Amino acid sequence: APAASPSTPAASAHKPGAFDFSELAPVRQLRMHRAAADMIGLDNPFFQPHEGVAGATSVLHGTEHDNFSSYNYLGLTGDPRVNAAAEAAIRTYGTSASASRVVAGERPVHGALEAALARLHGVEDAVVMVSGHATNVTTIGHLLGEGDLVLTDALVHNSISEGARLSGAARKNFPHDDLDALEKLLIDNRHRYENVLIAVEGIYSMDGDFPDLPRLIRLKQEFGAWLLVDEAHSFGVLGKTGKGIAEHFGIDPNTVEMWMGTLSKTLSACGGYIAGSKALCDYLRATAPGFVFSVGLAPPLAAAALASAEILEQEPERVARLAANGQRFLTRARAAGLDTGNSAGYSVIPVIVGDSIGAATLSNRLLKRRINALPIVFPAVAEKSARLRFFITSEHSDAQIDRAVAATAEELALLREQNVGFGSLVK
Ligand code: PMP
Repeated sequence: APAASPSTPAASAHKPGAFDFSELAPVRQLRMHRAAADMIGLDNPFFQPHEGVAGATSVLHGTEHDNFSSYNYLGLTGDPRVNAAAEAAIRTYGTSASASRVVAGERPVHGALEAALARLHGVEDAVVMVSGHATNVTTIGHLLGEGDLVLTDALVHNSISEGARLSGAARKNFPHDDLDALEKLLIDNRHRYENVLIAVEGIYSMDGDFPDLPRLIRLKQEFGAWLLVDEAHSFGVLGKTGKGIAEHFGIDPNTVEMWMGTLSKTLSACGGYIAGSKALCDYLRATAPGFVFSVGLAPPLAAAALASAEILEQEPERVARLAANGQRFLTRARAAGLDTGNSAGYSVIPVIVGDSIGAATLSNRLLKRRINALPIVFPAVAEKSARLRFFITSEHSDAQIDRAVAATAEELALLREQNVGFGSLVK
């Protein structure tokens, strides 16, 4: 028989050794993208190692940079009190919980952290899991099922989308922040499904804006739906004392079914949680696969998050500093003619470039000026909204903010003058 072509699965199946993944079409495509970027002299802005604590300032390539790429919103990663709590937990418990909390993985620090999170959110209980991403996936994937419906803002995080997919429920997106469209979806679809979940973010990770929570609550009450608010970028950020979007709007947090949060941002650890009613949290602790069949949160991380939560309660001035810094960045950026999209000017402020190569080049050039801000390029966002994202912290100085805005405006004007970008390549 004639030999099969080397690219056919039959041929690779008979090759000795392990499968070579560079033969997969998406892997080849990724390498082509990298080769194209190399050809036009773009440095890879991703995976750059930070050589110490990544705060408002961070060491990259042996040099201090003004850093706008970390979610260390309140500067608590690296805080000596947080480090001391983690070190004490290591001395007491070691580094790992070693097993699911259901069996041998429960430690007193887990319950203490859950109590602190419930207190901060103003609800009955909370359940912590090993990652923020896994928390959304397992919670949504487990609570919803066939015959149910998940309604999501078009810009929700991948972990919410993956949870919806895993659940087997029907899913419909409404255009970003378009609650009229959400209402129409509810009118047209509510009666066809048993349980309906609406999932939104407290501050959107791409655009830095936030939804009209009072209207969302009216809608979910009118149509008998559940509401999940992902507070990854709004907890410790919104509200006078950082308790999140409920505090910002003066809303009773018990009117929302699920407050989802991550321990990796303001709480300077790693992990995720759902805060809500005791019935919900007990049910998740007893049955959610990502909780039951996964290890308990590592004790030093639980202790670090608990210490951070306590500092947040004791030092609300950090929240005020973050809000002032966000407003300073936003007003200066707008005055400099930068397109900050819908950002409300808290933790996340995009500068929209409108072109992936332009955004990556702008990031490269800012790095040469010792300013670290990462690009978000197609397909993560539509090509026309390719951008740099600036993450603001309570610890940025006025000078750092002013320098970053001025440098971004200068470099962007230069790029446009030089006609750098994909648009210019295909013309
Ligand atoms: N939700 C949102 C909105 C996020 O932005 C992220 C991560 N950036 C997550 C969930 C996942 O959290 P983690 O990185 O802690 O797993």
